[in-house]
Amino acid sequence: MNEPLLIRGGRVIDPASGTDAVLDVLTRDGRIAALGTNLEPAGARVVDAAGCLVLTGFVDLHAHLREPGFEQKGTIRTETGAALRGGFTTICAMPNTSPAPDCGPVLESILERFARDARVRVFPIGCITRRREGQELAELAELAAGGCVAFSDDGSPVANGRLMRNALQLASALGLPISEHCDTPELHHGAMNEGAVSERLGLPGQPAAAEVAAIARNIELAAATGARLHIAHVTTARGIEIIADARQRGIPVTCEVTPSHLFLTEEAVFGEGPEPAYDTNAKINPPLRTEQDRRALVAALNAGIIDAIATDHAPHAVEDKLVEFEDAAFGISCFESAVATLWTQVARGELDLHAVARALTIGPVAAFELNRRVPGLGRLQPGSPADLVVIDPAAPVTIDPARWASKGKNTPLAGRSLTGRVRAVVAGGALTLLEEELHV
Ligand SMILES: [Zn+2]
Repeated sequence: MNEPLLIRGGRVIDPASGTDAVLDVLTRDGRIAALGTNLEPAGARVVDAAGCLVLTGFVDLHAHLREPGFEQKGTIRTETGAALRGGFTTICAMPNTSPAPDCGPVLESILERFARDARVRVFPIGCITRRREGQELAELAELAAGGCVAFSDDGSPVANGRLMRNALQLASALGLPISEHCDTPELHHGAMNEGAVSERLGLPGQPAAAEVAAIARNIELAAATGARLHIAHVTTARGIEIIADARQRGIPVTCEVTPSHLFLTEEAVFGEGPEPAYDTNAKINPPLRTEQDRRALVAALNAGIIDAIATDHAPHAVEDKLVEFEDAAFGISCFESAVATLWTQVARGELDLHAVARALTIGPVAAFELNRRVPGLGRLQPGSPADLVVIDPAAPVTIDPARWASKGKNTPLAGRSLTGRVRAVVAGGALTLLEEELHV
């Protein structure tokens, strides 16, 4: 059992309860034991959080751990270690592994790996279709019974509308949402956003319409079936408009945005120099979009139209990116840069602090109803799990993937000077200090 911890004198922000005050937080036996001022418990280890923010551990609805099948890119051990360092104490693992969890026995073998190796809480997401091939439904009932919190073929949109309708109906009967990567594959073979930059670079583009059309189709199917639809990593201004409209009509649709799409645009592929970089580390699916799209995502997050900030953490081996742009793998390693980009945007006055806090905690918990699995998850109140993150919002950070826990060093942010650093993380009552000077 972990020793009691006293996180002293930080600014506690808990969107679930509306708390925003300088408080001490005491953890004991894996739970939050007390919040208050001048707590003096005997025998507790003290962490001085003066000048820092204290939030409940972040919850990520969209992460790729790569194991089983792609251990050269990442393992459950390394990537959950990266999650921990990034402040994410609960993550949902996407099913594009090999084998993919499309039936009970495969899911069970993956859950055994989580139990053995995961350093944070991991919930599984099951496949929508067998082998994620989009041809026939996976064993959704077995996957639900085995503990999946959602279904997704992430990376492979369900192109067949009839199959998607059946999947939504069955998922709804099982009480689970479908998290859909909204794209229309027959519209492109693109490697980046279709527009001025792709033209300048001579690269094939993915039009915004490919995402927007899929969002529209899937929302109509959700409305027709009454099923819960979660739009994974929305990237387009028009997509946001459709989602906002659906929510106003009472359709049960939720959505997430990645830190990458909030912070970067298609220009990152070109790079910052005068000559084009063709930066494969800025290649992600769906692609980084235009500045207008990025601003729409920021506004939607601040307005509460976006439920969750999800990392889409996607580690790759160096050789997966050291190729021609069109041949490079899609994805950005994000766990260990998320806090820095988000808090840089808070410091700029671009992102609202409380909106960011909500979208990292109670927002994602509500979207996947994770409080049904772990009561009190996403809240910082007595009785909640002892999951905490301590952030110094003013600390300068230079992004250096060589120092990351993740096997994936694939980030377009290497060398960037940002603001906001994770100082300490408590996961299930266990303390990890990222900077020793915090320890009193
Ligand atoms: Zn995806």
